[in-house]
Amino acid sequence: MALSARLPALRARQSRRPWAPALFLDKDGTLVEDVPYNVDPARLRFMPGAGRTLARLSSAGFALVMITNQSGIGRGLFTRDAFDRLEQALRQRLRESDGVELDGVLLCPHLPNDAGAPACHCRKPAAGLLLQAATQLKLDLTRSWMVGDTLDDVEAGHRAGCRSLLFDCGGETVWRMSPLREPDHRVRQWSELEALLLAQGGPPQASPAAGPRSD
Ligand SMILES: [Zn+2]
Repeated sequence: MALSARLPALRARQSRRPWAPALFLDKDGTLVEDVPYNVDPARLRFMPGAGRTLARLSSAGFALVMITNQSGIGRGLFTRDAFDRLEQALRQRLRESDGVELDGVLLCPHLPNDAGAPACHCRKPAAGLLLQAATQLKLDLTRSWMVGDTLDDVEAGHRAGCRSLLFDCGGETVWRMSPLREPDHRVRQWSELEALLLAQGGPPQASPAAGPRSD
């Protein structure tokens, strides 16, 4: 399936320890402002403090993996090539502004079904992309976190065996709750996320026993 086309992008940095924890991050409304179906690099706006926080978490040993639903491809609103150009611009901006290198970017290009649920294994709230990244980058899911601005992000993280943070800045509007959709924590800015992960996620050599679910 189309996922295989993403394999070359998944190259762990040589400095990364095997079985490191990851921060899986959503793109729209979390890493960057949500501009629906945008693939224009000129309209890319990072959330305040995101780059700086990612730099610190990377230094602390977290792999950084962006996981994004891009149904605009399946809807025919933009092409995979257009998204790839946006991804390159996003990576370059992070590199130049904060010295951050993303370890991986994985996307689901598919449409949901008529009920709005995933019709594939990769669209969040399904966990397929997190599991794929974990296998290919040798990540420790039990010490990893997912952060996103919707409960679908929270659920995807939990389905993958991670802890999940809701970036609670207005992205979620439906609030359809279930145990899998209950965030471990809510944050409203990237600086809060940094403190939380460094305190609870621990450095990569921390015991897997560290960081129990907090609520
Ligand atoms: Zn998919």
